[in-house]
Amino acid sequence: MDLTFSGQERAFREELRRWLAANPSGPAPAGGSDDEDFRWRRAWQRRLYDGGWAAPHWPTEFGGRGASLTESAIYFEELGRARAPLPANVLGLLMGGPTLMQWGTREQQDRLLPPILSAEEIWCQGFSEPDAGSDLAALKTRARHDGDEWVVTGQKVWTSAAQHSKWCMLVARTDPDAPRHHGLTYFVMDMDQPGVRVRPLRQITGEAEFNELFMDGARIPGELVIGGVGNGWKVALTTLMNERAGLGFALQVRLRHLLDDLVAVAAERGLLEDAYYADRLADLHARTEAIRLLAWRGLSATERYGQPGPEGSLVKWLWSDINQRVTQLAPEIVGAEALTAGTRWSYELLRARGNSIEGGTTEVLKNIVAERVLGLPRLKVAA
Ligand SMILES: Cc1cc2nc3c(=O)[nH]c(=O)nc-3n(C[C@H](O)[C@H](O)[C@H](O)COP(=O)(O)OP(=O)(O)OC[C@H]3O[C@@H](n4cnc5c(N)ncnc54)[C@H](O)[C@@H]3O)c2cc1C
Repeated sequence: MDLTFSGQERAFREELRRWLAANPSGPAPAGGSDDEDFRWRRAWQRRLYDGGWAAPHWPTEFGGRGASLTESAIYFEELGRARAPLPANVLGLLMGGPTLMQWGTREQQDRLLPPILSAEEIWCQGFSEPDAGSDLAALKTRARHDGDEWVVTGQKVWTSAAQHSKWCMLVARTDPDAPRHHGLTYFVMDMDQPGVRVRPLRQITGEAEFNELFMDGARIPGELVIGGVGNGWKVALTTLMNERAGLGFALQVRLRHLLDDLVAVAAERGLLEDAYYADRLADLHARTEAIRLLAWRGLSATERYGQPGPEGSLVKWLWSDINQRVTQLAPEIVGAEALTAGTRWSYELLRARGNSIEGGTTEVLKNIVAERVLGLPRLKVAA
């Protein structure tokens, strides 16, 4: 891994930095509702799109800049540095789009990719169900063939941004008699139809980021099967690998800024002279730096093998651990304000609880790292 940037990469960073300086995202609407906040992030993505910066990592034929992985890492670093929010359609940009590029037909790509970029059509991920989270292959949502269409019945849960979405990456069981990993199919489902009902779930933070999703006779045309009937497991893995690799990189940049802000508060309060705080902040600094380097190493591996590998699981696991440590130390440094509802630090503290669950729980990620990165034997659980 060589972290010396080429002239082209430095030029890329400079161009983006100039654009972000001239086009600041501005702060989130103060005390705004979930809808207002989402509108703000959508408008921000629209501005990125107009400036040609919505998804530099997408190939030029699909409206991106064909940026290298190093350049797309620089992109997330600069967005974080400018304190800009993640674009509203982050699931479409980082997961849905790349999945379509790998598995979709030319018609599917032409129809679905452009409005992901422009944030005209928001995407959500309908994988988890009440009895199928870590064990995704246990999912029960059924899709039945009916002429040229599929008819879907079942329930999804924790579906982030479903209330704003036009399309859902939906994995459903199409062959109940096949072995469970083989009987699945990956669809893109139109959310805007009578057979689909979305019920927001309010979280500990007070916001309704995710939802329950009920399908009762929802219809999906045959041409919106992605990657072939019965091949849903493989297609879903592409989505999950992109989630852990792409989002993992963006999130560790945000963690750095959170920690820098906490160090700044500690400095203002003269706490850096206190060995207790200095020791704890130094520990978090070292961990944050280690995860930054791991994220870069993951990118180098992706560059080598052409797609994200299981190493992304390590970054995701460590990010959630360190983010929780930072937000738990904050009340000791910031004081009672960090435990008062409605403040930034209390939000970060509460939101971080879900970090070790979303995008794969820490226990499951540890299994992946043990088996697929370290090559340890699979754990055999006694019957
Ligand atoms: C903020 C947030 C946003 C989310 N957004 C989405 C979304 O947009 N779309 C979507 O589809 N899902 C989403 N999810 C769901 C998320 O992917 C699941 O919560 C996650 O996969 C865990 O599944 P589960 O909740 O069913 O827990 P379970 O799988 O039931 O796990 C329960 C406990 O058992 C442990 N466990 C399970 N299996 C093993 C094992 N093999 N070895 C060791 N321990 C194990 C887990 O670590 C956990 O502690 C989101 C979750 C959160 C918190």
